[in-house]
Amino acid sequence: MVNRKKIIKTNEQWQIELTPDVYYICRLKGTESPHSGKYCQHFENGQYQCACCHSPLFSSKAKYETECGWPSFYEPITDISVDYRRDTSLEIARVEAICSTCHAHLGHVFNDGPKPTGNRYCINSLSLKFKAEEK
Ligand code: FE
Repeated sequence: MVNRKKIIKTNEQWQIELTPDVYYICRLKGTESPHSGKYCQHFENGQYQCACCHSPLFSSKAKYETECGWPSFYEPITDISVDYRRDTSLEIARVEAICSTCHAHLGHVFNDGPKPTGNRYCINSLSLKFKAEEK
């Protein structure tokens, strides 16, 4: 059963719950420095959850190695886990990826990814929390 519930909190509430760096990335749409994130070169089996609301976002199965500097996935864990917004903050229009449950900023989606989707979900490590697969 896929969770469709929404978690809506004010920035003031999030600021109390989150560390300053997670708050900056997820609630103020920050971007961590390339190659700085703890999940860039992380390839264990498991699930990457939202750092704010713990909803499952990506499977390690869709993670792939890239030199772009951020953890990259070719698809979200389900069709409704991630929502999209048009981001025109730079000169080139981009597609922003957000957690569909709590609307945390995750990163952006580009169309230079590998098969089978051709998409690259370029995601800040700080917006994710890894949960290892139970053995
Ligand atoms: Fe979330």
